Formats: sequence, C-alpha cells, structure tokens
Amino acid sequence: MTDMLLHNGWELVVGLEVHVELATKTKLFSGSPNRFGDEPNTNIDPVTLGLPGALPVLNQHAVELAMRIGIALNCTVQASTFHRKNYFYPDMPKAYQISQYDQPLNVNGFLMLPGGVRIGVERAHLEEDTGKSTHIGGATGRIHGSEYSLIDFNRAGVPLVEIVSRPDIRTSEQARQYVTELRAILLAVGASDAKMEEGSMRVDANVSVRKPGAELGTRCEIKNVNSVRAVGRAIDYEARRQIDMIENGDRVRQETRHWDDGEGRTHTLRVKEDADDYRYFLEPDLVPLAPSAKWIQTVKDNMPPLPAARRAHLSAITGASEESEAVIVVVERGQDDYIHEVVAAGGDAGKALVFVQQAFADETAQPRVPAKDIAALTVMERDGKITSTQSKTLLAEIVANGGGDAVALAAAKGFEALDNSAAEKMVDDVIAAQPEAWAKYCAGEEKAMGALVGAIMKLSQGKADGKVVTAILQARRTA
Ligand code: MN
Repeated sequence: MTDMLLHNGWELVVGLEVHVELATKTKLFSGSPNRFGDEPNTNIDPVTLGLPGALPVLNQHAVELAMRIGIALNCTVQASTFHRKNYFYPDMPKAYQISQYDQPLNVNGFLMLPGGVRIGVERAHLEEDTGKSTHIGGATGRIHGSEYSLIDFNRAGVPLVEIVSRPDIRTSEQARQYVTELRAILLAVGASDAKMEEGSMRVDANVSVRKPGAELGTRCEIKNVNSVRAVGRAIDYEARRQIDMIENGDRVRQETRHWDDGEGRTHTLRVKEDADDYRYFLEPDLVPLAPSAKWIQTVKDNMPPLPAARRAHLSAITGASEESEAVIVVVERGQDDYIHEVVAAGGDAGKALVFVQQAFADETAQPRVPAKDIAALTVMERDGKITSTQSKTLLAEIVANGGGDAVALAAAKGFEALDNSAAEKMVDDVIAAQPEAWAKYCAGEEKAMGALVGAIMKLSQGKADGKVVTAILQARRTA
C-alpha cells in the first residue's frame, strides 16, 4: 500500500458527497415542471415560493428514482422521514430546505470501483434543490464585489438525491473513478442526466490527511468541483495545502472551501457549520415515507443491467479488458447495445468496439447509423479486403451520411487491400531501390523502417496495409 501514500508518508482520506437532480417531469413537492434552461421564474408555484398555506405533496416518481439509486448502490431501502433544515439563503424562500436527516431512505451501501476497490456508501437521501442566484458585476461571478444579484426559482424544489460516501477513498484517482462510475450508474438506471457542466450532478469533497493508522485528521469540505478532472485537481491541491500547514506547525481548521478551477486552488468560503446549527426538526407537513416491501421488490425486479455487468458482457464478446478505456467509455455512453446489434448483424465484435468508440464520441445514446452498415465494414477490414486506413475513411463517410454500403463505397473509391504476393513484390522493389535504408534497417536502426514503409505505401497508392508491410519487412530482415 506504500504507493497510496503521499510525500513524507502522509495518507489521503476522502469522502465524497454527490448531489444529483432527478429526471422527473415535475418537482419534488409540487406539479411545476422540472426543466433546465427555461425562462427564469416560469416554473414556479405557491409551494416552490413557500407562500403561506402552501402544502408539499411528495412526488412518487422521485421516490422511485431515489430507490433505484439506492438499490444500484447496494443500499438497504428503509422507512424514512423528512426534516426541515433551517437556514436563510436568498434563493430559498421558505428559509428551510426539506431534506432527510436521521432516517434517510437508503443506507449502508457500497460502490465497487472498476479496479475492484470497494467504497462504502453511508446514505443516499431525498431532498429539494434551492433556486439559483446569479451575481452581476463582480469579477468572477461570485457574490463578493458584485453590484446586484438575480434570483431564478425554477430550480427551487427540484428533486435531489444526496449520495454520501464513507471516507474510504485514498487517492485522487480513486475519487475520479468513483465519480465516473457513479455517473455511469445514474445514467444506466435513468435516475438523472448527471451533467456536471449543467449542475445536475454536483460533487463536494471532504478531504483530510493523516499518518496511516492514526485517527482521522480535521477535514475541509471543497465545493464547486464541476468536472471529473477538477475533482482530482482539487483533492491533490487540498491535500498538499493541509500537509504543508501541519508540517509548518499549524493546525487545519474545519471549514468549507471553494475550488477555483482557473487559479487551480481552494479559498476559504466559510468556517464549517455543524448539524446543530441547522435546527433540524421533523417536517410537520409530510407523513413518514415508508415504501412497502412490495413496491421495493417491484423496483428491484425492474432494475436495468448496471454498468459493471454490461462491461463484463462487452468484454466477453469483444475480448477487450473490462477496464479498457474502450469498454468503459462505450458503456458509459450507453452504446454497448449497439455493438450487440452490430454483432447480431454478422459484424466483428472487436472491430465494432473500436469503430464505435472512435466514430460516435459525440453521441450519448445509440448511434443512428444502421448496425448492418457498421457490421459490413468490420467484416471487410477483418477479411483484409481493405486496409485499416481505408476502413477509417469509409467509417467517417458512413457516419457523416448516417449510413452506407461499405462494399459499394469501397468499390467507388477504388479501395482494395493488396493481396499478400503483390505486397511482397512491392517490398522487394523498394528494398532494391533503397539499399542504404535497407542496410540501416538491417543494422537495427528502427527509424529506417519508417522510410521503407512510407515508400512502399506510396508505391501502392495507399492500398498496402501498413501492418502487413511491416510484418513482411521484419520477416525479410530475419530471413
Ligand atoms: Mn444536501
């Protein structure tokens, strides 16, 4: 475990709190639409604005999505209650947030990182989002130094699930993996669109350092970390800052800090409040939320396959590792079903994986190109009818046109791979024409190989396959 240690033998301890907005049609306690990007203050109603006499009514679909998240994270789904978390904020008109406190809906789960590390999940509870403030006139869009602020209540009351991990994360890489895997799970179960850049998935990191085996150090909570990359950078910066403080004889103060991605550093936001400060009490306008065993079972029975199982399946048919980037990325984009379609249409699974990873990077769903067209292309390349370079050209064309017959396209372009005997003849011709390069290559100068391969490719007008040519050259040298 020494590779887990930071410099001078310090150990990093991280727990993550992730807020996700649920993909419901309406808000958690009212019928106003839950929609991102609408005209400000149009998706509002008396409950959203906290007007006197307005009463919350719990959204059943939000509860179901929250249960799906809990089940996907191996939690126990239990009877729960709602509390009022009291504090004033301009974009929270009731001056309290309805949340779950000592009896959350989902408890005691875990998330397995793709490498097999298990990260505990303490709880995943339901709560409502606040509105959104926009500070105008300041330098960085922060309230400090701004001239005035605009408030949009469209987001107020949007259903959230807050997923709290145990402090089991030991490296910034594990933190990135956790966020990436959690995001893939949320997408797979349809609970959220989980867009970090739009704020529908928001990560706070609790960071502390200690000597291995010692008690937990004082933690700081880092807010405003809005990309997977920023999660890693913010944690690395904060660990470094805390170690420097302790080694200089200072003490780390428990506080909430703001990550500034542009500056690459954290700033003090506020000295950390404790749970007592929020004066939690039971929400008198809502009954306890106790899903029946039958309802929980129905949700369990209808869970879609999770990313880990889908990666295992994709790995089994393509031969690529479950931890390979291609497998991870394609499952995360939800394009693994498409590869199964390509294979069902007679395509080569391994090549289909590479093609889909490369060609459909901008899509987050099933590609619209007919699977049979991709299948035909994979077969042509596998059978050596076209070179890999030619196949890339055809793939780009098929994708741009939303489909196309690979055989006809190859014929129209005059694409064909050379058969092996023609390729061997060209290799011999080029060796004869460039004796110096050949001698250097035979003497072990690998750079000379590039010149030879280039000359052969040119002679073949691109019809030779670089891999085949290289193999023939190597065979000639050892012969
Ligand atoms: Mn929260």
